Amino acid sequence: MPTQFDPPSGTRDLLAQEFERREQAFAVIRSVYGRYGFEPLQTPAFERLEVLMGKYGDDSDKLIFKILRRGEQEASGEADLALRYDLTVPLARVAAAYGSQLPSPYKRYAIGPVWRADRPGKGRYREFVQCDLDTLGSASPLADAEVLCAQHDALVALGVTDFTILLNSRQVLAGLLEAYHIPDQIGPRVLIVLDKLDKLSPAAVVAELQDLGLGEEAGDLVRALTAADSSDRIRVALKPSEQGEAGLAVLDDLLALVSTELPPGRIVFAPRMVRGLSYYTGPIWEHVAPGIPGSLGGGGRYDHLIAQLGGPDVPATGASLGIERILMLPGQEAGPLRRLDVAVAVLDEQYARDAYSFAVASRAAGLRASVYLGSSGKLGKQLRWAADQGARWCVLYGSAERAAGTVTVRDMTTGEQTPVPAAELTGYLASAAGTTLAGTTSAGTTSAG
Ligand code: AMP
Repeated sequence: MPTQFDPPSGTRDLLAQEFERREQAFAVIRSVYGRYGFEPLQTPAFERLEVLMGKYGDDSDKLIFKILRRGEQEASGEADLALRYDLTVPLARVAAAYGSQLPSPYKRYAIGPVWRADRPGKGRYREFVQCDLDTLGSASPLADAEVLCAQHDALVALGVTDFTILLNSRQVLAGLLEAYHIPDQIGPRVLIVLDKLDKLSPAAVVAELQDLGLGEEAGDLVRALTAADSSDRIRVALKPSEQGEAGLAVLDDLLALVSTELPPGRIVFAPRMVRGLSYYTGPIWEHVAPGIPGSLGGGGRYDHLIAQLGGPDVPATGASLGIERILMLPGQEAGPLRRLDVAVAVLDEQYARDAYSFAVASRAAGLRASVYLGSSGKLGKQLRWAADQGARWCVLYGSAERAAGTVTVRDMTTGEQTPVPAAELTGYLASAAGTTLAGTTSAGTTSAG
């Protein structure tokens, strides 16, 4: 049962270790996206409500967290702003607002939280971070290849290796409907049902298709899509459809383009992958990994969406990675905590200021250092604190050290203790840490002498 101190359902508090793991992952993604020449864009967490409403049909409106009018208008109970639920609608607004001031084509990446009033579940949050990259203004398959490969490289750079990219296309799906003589008016609903082949049995999907009015072709279609050699079968089935053949040619072109960059088997033609969002106009893809609900990421070409979202009518292709699901994968856990390089113990209150100065000098030397701030002076407790901070060394300074003009440096990994002249402490630590000590003073000379 949630308590009053839990964050709202579908959101999380990120304590240090998890936060830092995520920041590392963002840095990796940013650097890969940057390597492909995508430039950053940051937009506000909230937008005017009218910018967000009605953009992907009623479905997306249900996901919107609205923000009530404030001040004197609060009593109206109306909303005028809302939290963004993706990074694509804000991109369209930026494209409309800045037009020709933006580079053309405009290759941008955006990493930031989005909010969806969804029902939370495993790997499904109401606040989550998306890492998007999009190219506006290029109809070239090279643009699709670049987005696809940048997204792929980001996953690999994060250490994710066990994943597959399912590739399909809107034309192939349209061709499939045509080849199986499915009437246009129920086409979109048929695709929504076919998208359930991952979750439901083939028989259940056939039954749902029959509910939509399909006859024998329901069984034929589902058998072709679920057969072991489904991609070959679908290639044959698409022959009579011009759209289907054209879609396949585009896919084969894209496959050939990316095949030099991706390992064999990483990307496969997946004729039953639909990708729920109806705005795609060309190739679509999804990254799936064993044990992960839904997808790690997805993308595709969406040539008229930017205009529909209020921007200019430019061809566009883009993709999104969801960090939450990536970090659920085995091997993605946070590594051991390394908060401090140097933990300085306070063995004797009368030398607390000396201990403090050792930490000051260590920081000045570029090391992460902190003095013990707790109340109990017990050495065991202070060493536990140093270990909890992941410190590499614990500096000990008591009467014996003072008398000898030294400090004791304890290596927290080996437990080995080395007396070091107080004046040489930071030089000793910095050289052990492999850092340089340009223009810094040593600890011992400041106040410990
Ligand atoms: P979408 O914008 O729905 O295509 O989602 C793109 C990516 O965002 C997905 O592949 C997921 O990795 C991630 N994602 C989507 N919805 C959620 C959610 N509710 N919680 C966490 N991640 C999500």
